[in-house]
Amino acid sequence: MILTGCRILNFYRRKHSFNFLLIKRRTAVFALALLLVTSALVTSTTLCLLSIPKKVYTVVIDAGHGGIDGGGIGIRSNTTEAEINLSIALKLKVYLEALGNINPILTRTNADGLYETDATNKKTSDLKARKAIITTASPDAVISIHCNQFPNRTRRGALTFYNSNSDMGINLAQSVQTFLNKLNQIHLETTYLAAGGDYYILNCTNYPSVLVECGFLSNVQDDKLLNDASYQTELAKAITLGVTSFFNST
Ligand SMILES: [Zn+2]
Repeated sequence: MILTGCRILNFYRRKHSFNFLLIKRRTAVFALALLLVTSALVTSTTLCLLSIPKKVYTVVIDAGHGGIDGGGIGIRSNTTEAEINLSIALKLKVYLEALGNINPILTRTNADGLYETDATNKKTSDLKARKAIITTASPDAVISIHCNQFPNRTRRGALTFYNSNSDMGINLAQSVQTFLNKLNQIHLETTYLAAGGDYYILNCTNYPSVLVECGFLSNVQDDKLLNDASYQTELAKAITLGVTSFFNST
């Protein structure tokens, strides 16, 4: 076919127009397919995200004693247990909070006890106040911080107690003890098993609860460690690892 002048131009216009339409159609089909795939991906991603529970854990940190009840006293340091307990509890709060999905609640944040000032039995009043805080918090775990004292002054180390009737409490205690044992191994060259204990704070609610005796104030070396800020930090880190390990296993 011989094409001349305007015919050639028209031919190219038609051909170009045809190709342009073809490209437009292909582009439209591709865009539609892309849109469908993208929306499918977005939908599945959204479903995937929705199916992951965004759990925030609540942990009550109970610094034992306070106010007129100083608890034990360091054999060499003369520091009260109440003071050391609070210091470790505050450090534990910082480490748990740093994880982002743990909401720590302290039973006390200063040197005061929790009892009513006019209570006849301040110890009972104090313990009931702690129970009320735990009950209100409805926590995933309760960590009560204490220091030990024993007539045999050679006894040392960190030891975790649980309520023997609470399976979750036993799991939590074993998990915390596992990490405390790393410190016991370093400083005592020995390890302990978590143990059952009849303590009010463990029995007053059904939430998984442990009582950590961080060391023995009746032992000279433990007394020194318990008064050392960096050792308190190590204790707080070990308890944090124990708590998170427990949450990951439940
Ligand atoms: Zn105590």
